[in-house]
Amino acid sequence: MPQKIVIIGGGIAGLSAGIYAQKAGFDSVVYEKHSVPGGECTGWMREGHYIDNCICWMTCAKEGYDLWDMWKDSGICADGIEIHQHDYFYKSELDGKTVYLWRDLKRAEKEMLELSPQDKREIRSFFKHVKLSESLQVPCKKAIDMMNLFELTVYGLRMLKMVPVILKYGRMSVGDLSERFKHPLLKKMVMDYMPRDYLAHLFITAYGTISSGGGGVPVGGSLSAMLRMAERYKKLGGSLICSAPVKKIVIENKKTTGIILENGTFVKADYVISSTDTNHTFTKLLEDGGRFIPHKLKKSYNDPKNNPLGSSFHAAFSLDMKTDEIGGRTFFDCDEFTLAGRKITRMNIKNYSFEKTQVPEGKSLVQVKILEPENEYLYWEKLYATDKPRYEKEKQQAASDIQNAIEQRFPFTKGKLKLLDVWTPFTYNRFCNAYRGVYMTFITTKKSPNLTNIPGVVKGVKNLFLAGQWLMLPGGIPVALVTGKYAIQRILKSQNKNINIKP
Ligand SMILES: Cc1cc2nc3c(=O)[nH]c(=O)nc-3n(C[C@H](O)[C@H](O)[C@H](O)COP(=O)(O)OP(=O)(O)OC[C@H]3O[C@@H](n4cnc5c(N)ncnc54)[C@H](O)[C@@H]3O)c2cc1C
Repeated sequence: MPQKIVIIGGGIAGLSAGIYAQKAGFDSVVYEKHSVPGGECTGWMREGHYIDNCICWMTCAKEGYDLWDMWKDSGICADGIEIHQHDYFYKSELDGKTVYLWRDLKRAEKEMLELSPQDKREIRSFFKHVKLSESLQVPCKKAIDMMNLFELTVYGLRMLKMVPVILKYGRMSVGDLSERFKHPLLKKMVMDYMPRDYLAHLFITAYGTISSGGGGVPVGGSLSAMLRMAERYKKLGGSLICSAPVKKIVIENKKTTGIILENGTFVKADYVISSTDTNHTFTKLLEDGGRFIPHKLKKSYNDPKNNPLGSSFHAAFSLDMKTDEIGGRTFFDCDEFTLAGRKITRMNIKNYSFEKTQVPEGKSLVQVKILEPENEYLYWEKLYATDKPRYEKEKQQAASDIQNAIEQRFPFTKGKLKLLDVWTPFTYNRFCNAYRGVYMTFITTKKSPNLTNIPGVVKGVKNLFLAGQWLMLPGGIPVALVTGKYAIQRILKSQNKNINIKP
């Protein structure tokens, strides 16, 4: 009889673990607390409009990248699914001027040089390194800590082009990089997308992901992608049980024997994989779990100054017209308003016009996203706990301020915008048990410890494994996808079996 694996959490990591568990011959069940799978990679309908909450870009989602097979195999990029390529990563506006980070690097470089000849050296270096970073390969055949010396060497050699990127930008923050430019718009452009402390090489590689053509978006959105993934899992024989929150992981004699659901049911298992937010796993699901937290992760949680966290505030609007004037992600200055106690003077907007079929005829869906640091998460959390009506009121007020800002920047939208939904960083905690509302793990700073690979095992508890975005910086869906597979490979390895799972 096949051995049974219980997987906690039906986000990408949990579903990925499920798919590879089935392929490797196990009998697996995914327990998901929410009524739909997908976790943070999701979307929802409001008044006939589809609102997407996640995929702005994938990574290495193109033939030729190692990860492509996994994107396809998971169902996210199943055969027949169109992958939309953004024309540009984003654009930044300031004082009537606009700069585009075009997917076409030559065009972007030329336009930037025209805008600011005095920044020639920095611009040339920037684009040279973005181009080099297109060679990034996410390790997906197996986890780095599972590679032997030969495999590590081969992987390292294939990543050689990344070395200059890391050498030049790996110890530089986005704030430092911004300072290197002289033109105010270029300074602004660098600061727009990521928090100031973020390492600059992550910005460079994110742009490289787009310029390589591997950073597209599956048309139909994040929710459809996750439903395809869930279908794929079920077709392989896996069971997905939604609306089934897990309360505890049971440990007997230093070994897990199963889980207890919130409704009190005990589910016996040979192996348990927790794919929830790691903080939730160690502080809620494991009795006295603090003592089991991997050392590197604990260090980061305990040093918030050097390991900042971030989330975001969102508002989605229906626009009663079709327009190309609000294009892809666009950053612009706005009149000052207050959000969670902070003065906001800049925001970004995105028109989801590439999702043609998912809005009522003649309308558009536009979304605004404002990054919020950890203290603002705490603001929303406290407000929700102590004064729910005020939490709702402040959300609505912010949405109204955002609407005013859109109407000012794009006057043709006046009287044509209708708020569909507004959500705060705390929403991610409520729905996904996300620590501090975070959805991309720690912000990687100059002082972050090396979180490039936290082995997904729990020292001191046999047969318990981890998966999910927190195991590898900088998080995101590729990390969730590969760590689900790694968890199954770790189980196979513990049984001295071949860890190469056939597609
Ligand atoms: C606005 C936004 C934009 C993003 N954009 C991108 C992007 O462009 N590219 C990118 O790569 N990434 C992006 N991300 C990040 C990406 O969504 C996440 O990194 C990824 O989805 C995390 O997957 P996961 O499976 O590790 O975790 P999660 O999605 O958090 O999955 C964990 C699952 O466990 C469930 N769970 C929690 N506790 C329990 C319990 N006790 N019992 C049962 N189930 C439980 C949760 O409900 C959840 O479904 C974005 C995220 C957001 C929010």
